[in-house]
Amino acid sequence: MKPLTDSEIRASFVNATKGEIERMPLPGLHEVMWDSREYLGWRDAGAPLRGYLVHWSGDRPIGIILRASDPSLRPGISAMCILCRTPQPSGQVTLFSAPKAGEAGRNGNSIGTYICDDLACSMIIRILPAAHPMQPDPAEVLEKRIAGLTERVASFTADVMKTA
Ligand SMILES: [Zn+2]
Repeated sequence: MKPLTDSEIRASFVNATKGEIERMPLPGLHEVMWDSREYLGWRDAGAPLRGYLVHWSGDRPIGIILRASDPSLRPGISAMCILCRTPQPSGQVTLFSAPKAGEAGRNGNSIGTYICDDLACSMIIRILPAAHPMQPDPAEVLEKRIAGLTERVASFTADVMKTA
C-alpha cells in the first residue's frame, strides 16, 4: 500500500468520535513495511479492546475503529479471519465490531466481523508453503491472497460507511 502520514491517518476515520481520534495511539510509521501490506492495522496498548484499520480506497485513506468482543472464541476450536480467510486457532481470531459511520453508528448500529486478533492479515498471507511441483506456484498463491484481502477489506469498510 501507499504510505500514510500521521495526519492522513487521523483524518481518515469514518466511524470514530473526535475524542477517540485524539486518544488514538499510532504505530511507529517509519517502521512499517508499506510495500508488503494491504491495510495498516493495530491494537491499542492503552485500551486493549480497541483496534484500528486503515486502507486506501483509490486516493482516499479510510480508517475504521474496531472494538474486540470479550471474551473471544472458545479455545480449542479453529476459526477463520473474514478478511484474509486464513484458518487459525480460535485464540488468534477475534470478533470485532465496527460502529457504522454517521447517524447509524451514533444510534448504536455496528457490524461484527471475525478478524485476525493482531490485525496483521498482511503478515499471515505472506507465510507461504514451499514450492512443490504438485502445488500451485507460491507466487501465484500470494497474488491471489493479496487480491482477495484487498477486495474484502474494501467491501468491509464500504459496509461500515453505508448509511442506509
Ligand atoms: Zn486476517
